[in-house]
Amino acid sequence: METRVTLERAIQIACATPMARVMERATLDDARHRVLATPLASLVDDPRFDNSAMDGFAVRASDCDRSGARLKIVGTSQTGGETPPPIARAEACRIMTGAPMPEGADAIVMVEDTEADDEHVTVHGPARPAYIRRRAENLSKGQEALPEGALLSSASLALAGTMGHGQLELIRRPRIAVLSTGDELVEPGTELQPGQIYESNSHALSSLVEAMGCEATRIDSSNDSMDELRQTLDSLSSYDAILTSGGVSMGDWDLVRRIMEEEGEVAFWRINLRPGGPPLFGTWKGTPLFGLPGNPVSSLVVFHVLVAPWISKSLGYHEEMGPRISDRVSVRLEDDVAGAPGKLCLRRIRIRSHNGELLATTHTHQGSGNMHSMVAHNGLTLLPPDTDGKAGETIDALWLR
Ligand code: AMP
Ligand code: MG
Repeated sequence: METRVTLERAIQIACATPMARVMERATLDDARHRVLATPLASLVDDPRFDNSAMDGFAVRASDCDRSGARLKIVGTSQTGGETPPPIARAEACRIMTGAPMPEGADAIVMVEDTEADDEHVTVHGPARPAYIRRRAENLSKGQEALPEGALLSSASLALAGTMGHGQLELIRRPRIAVLSTGDELVEPGTELQPGQIYESNSHALSSLVEAMGCEATRIDSSNDSMDELRQTLDSLSSYDAILTSGGVSMGDWDLVRRIMEEEGEVAFWRINLRPGGPPLFGTWKGTPLFGLPGNPVSSLVVFHVLVAPWISKSLGYHEEMGPRISDRVSVRLEDDVAGAPGKLCLRRIRIRSHNGELLATTHTHQGSGNMHSMVAHNGLTLLPPDTDGKAGETIDALWLR
């Protein structure tokens, strides 16, 4: 077991025990917010044929070089209709947006620039080749347009459809159990007895698990008893991973740490991080397990900096296009922020965009129990160990989505 590791080392150790990456086939309807397991190439040219970008008339540009040219209308090109008739000199074909270009035509005149009766059209405006959308100008058949590991959000779902895919190979959502531990914890909405507090971590962690493309199951919190904890952990063997919160510090009641040391396998315990120093990672009878700190802010920030990268790497998410819950950015500090001796410091900051620059302020009490500070802020500093941030300086940060 390693202890007091850097965050980079912690990620590296955890990534040596990834979750299984399983593929499954699904329809486009079932692919929303899911992740592609294979790259997707187009089954068709896009557009499939030269077509008009405007409602108007398909013409020969050379017939329209003077205003007032009068052309004979030989037919109509409709979307989804028959192949339009070819046009010859001094002829035109009515055309709708998206309808195929007739043979012989090389430009479009917008309907607004014409006057027409049933047989003839008089052209008052320009005839533009640029109003033709050319076959395959967006994508050619066989071209790979969506990479493996891409999140299928709105535009990528539509693109998969454009490319002709009714079924896709997706990454099966791994099932992750979220277990909070502590004698003091009770479900929100119930009455509190002396010494009890509402359990909240499992809600934040479950929503982060889902935002990372996995399925979260909240397990009823476990009391601080070795027997109960063992029984609960044993009941989670069908999950792909387990996240616990609480019970990983130095105290005698920190039973997640104890049970993992005595009966599980611990790969590392404690990271040089503030807040969020005590986490551990290991396996419980073969299942990867993150023991996150109990302090509400700590458990969340550790998810952001440690668990999210592990999920991403385990499942082979695309670096830019995969699911993610934060962006690494540079921000200019407007307030001083204190760093931490020997530890990477994750202060809560509020990031806003101003004149093309990201500015960061900080306010409210930053205690690791203060969940309000996570709501009032939308970012975390990445202050290297032994480094304070001074107002005016530019530093690295995570912008939380
Ligand atoms: P622990 O790491 O178990 O010592 O917990 C540290 C602090 O976080 C204590 O004040 C706990 O009451 C609190 N805490 C632990 N787990 C949770 C939870 N699931 N929801 C809210 N607070 C918690
Ligand atoms: Mg506890």
